[in-house]
Amino acid sequence: MKQQCEYCDFMIDDTDEVCSNCGAPNEHVVRAATGVPQTIEELKAFCAEKNLPLEKMRFFIGEDYKEPKAFGIFEDAQGDFVVYKNKADGSRAIRYEGKDESYAVNEIYQKLKAEINERRAKAPASIKKIRVLIPKDLKSQVLEKFF
Ligand SMILES: [Zn+2]
Repeated sequence: MKQQCEYCDFMIDDTDEVCSNCGAPNEHVVRAATGVPQTIEELKAFCAEKNLPLEKMRFFIGEDYKEPKAFGIFEDAQGDFVVYKNKADGSRAIRYEGKDESYAVNEIYQKLKAEINERRAKAPASIKKIRVLIPKDLKSQVLEKFF
């Protein structure tokens, strides 16, 4: 969306960090939706948009999940943001605890991104394996049904 620069009245995009005419900082800058999520809500929206199978991936956004093998982020009763990892033995490691929501969100966002890349890298290999296991005649049957 377009908006007016507060200093020179030039029309700028609300996603511009600075005015393209006078260079003044845009105090109402809107971070692009494709950028790094800054809040738990933005992170939730990001995951929904990408259709991430969070439960399968063992990520719990905005949830104080107690079971083993889980990554999560939530806001506690004191307004602190907590990033945690529950290990296989059920013990919890705190990655971050504090008031900086965007820092906390970024901690888990980076982990999430690494997880997505790992899954992507694994996917082609497992598909290849399945193909090899299907006998030729059976494969054509399956394909016929499929189309
Ligand atoms: Zn300006």
